[in-house]
Amino acid sequence: MSDTYITCKYIVSGLKCNQLIRNGAVLIENGKIAAVGKEKDVKKLLSGHDKIDRSNHMAIPSLVNGHTHLPETLLRGICDNQKLMTWLNDFIWPFELNMSINDAYHGAQLGCLELIESGISGFIDQYFYAEAIEKAAKEANIRALLCPSIFDNTPESGSLEETWIHVSNLVKNKNHNTDSLVKYGIGPHAPYSVPEEILLKIYDLASKLSLPIHIHLNETKKEVEEAKQLFGMTPIEYMSHLGLTKEKILAAHCVHTTPKEWKIMKDENITVLHNPQSNLKMTSGIAPVYKYLEQGIDVVIGTDGNASNNDLAMLEELTTTAMLQKYLANDPTVLDNATVLNLGSIQGLKAMGVESTGISVNSVADLTLLSLEKSHSWPQNDPLSNVIYSSSSSDVNDLIVNGNFVYLNKEHLTLDKWSIIEKCSEISQRILTEMEK
Ligand SMILES: [Zn+2]
Repeated sequence: MSDTYITCKYIVSGLKCNQLIRNGAVLIENGKIAAVGKEKDVKKLLSGHDKIDRSNHMAIPSLVNGHTHLPETLLRGICDNQKLMTWLNDFIWPFELNMSINDAYHGAQLGCLELIESGISGFIDQYFYAEAIEKAAKEANIRALLCPSIFDNTPESGSLEETWIHVSNLVKNKNHNTDSLVKYGIGPHAPYSVPEEILLKIYDLASKLSLPIHIHLNETKKEVEEAKQLFGMTPIEYMSHLGLTKEKILAAHCVHTTPKEWKIMKDENITVLHNPQSNLKMTSGIAPVYKYLEQGIDVVIGTDGNASNNDLAMLEELTTTAMLQKYLANDPTVLDNATVLNLGSIQGLKAMGVESTGISVNSVADLTLLSLEKSHSWPQNDPLSNVIYSSSSSDVNDLIVNGNFVYLNKEHLTLDKWSIIEKCSEISQRILTEMEK
């Protein structure tokens, strides 16, 4: 790991992304930020660091994708414009049943390429074939919190009981080294797809191994109504009732919730993984993120899988988050720009169990450098406003993860882009042909 000195026109610094340094520099040593500030001050500390000139660029804390199903890159574009159950029964599940662990590995590699090109240093995943995703993430040298999926009839393990045995053995055998870029959690799919008995076993294992539990909760109105009929309570109330919230819950979606549930979410420390574009495309609704923030509930932004979004890009997801909350609150003053960036970056690392204070001294060195050369970055009356409302993933010029460049001047340093794309195109075509048989 080389020590690096980077000069930037702008640096978004501070725990809340609310400090803008103009004509700044960052010094990275041993994977951490050793100094940040005005270039003239940081320059004094230079001694044998690699120098990177990004004087027409802006450094932001790297983005984190808070909810993915990474190998779903292979399913990109196979089904738009269908109702949820048709989408699942006729397209997604039949495709996944034809997916091997090797296919999932290549799909995850394509996911890593896309994450890197979108300036994303880490992702929180829930999928089967977690070991294939681990291999891809390690090769890409980016952060991952992998939560192997538990539900009935996975292509990897078959029945729910077999899946539970497979996943529990898998996570038990992992080295839960907190310094590793790849960590494990556990991923019961949802309360409607995993019975109480298995949820309780998952809780026991999660508490023994200190694993976060990554689950889909309160995604659709229908799901909430069915839970009330089945359990006599909503999915979030049910999780609390079973005691699962005594462990860390990472709850994807939380679109349809009540003030009673907000209290549970706040008191029992549930983190919301908000996926606004997926919720729009599947017509699930709009999660009341501004209400969650008012209550002091942790929120992280994600994209959901490529089958339902269809990309993994976060800058665009930040724009969507900001606009939807203003619309929902009928108030353009909710969610200032620094808060939106914070939810898409530092809060994401926190949910992954990584201590970060953004681009600040002693924080982990995860940085995204955005080029300012496109016309949509001008004028620069408020550079942070440009990040949230007018930038795009195509502005990402470099990505630094834990002090290491994985993307330098738009070149991948860890992955062979075109061989991965070629392989994934072949796999996707093969599976679509198999589905027709
Ligand atoms: Zn999901």
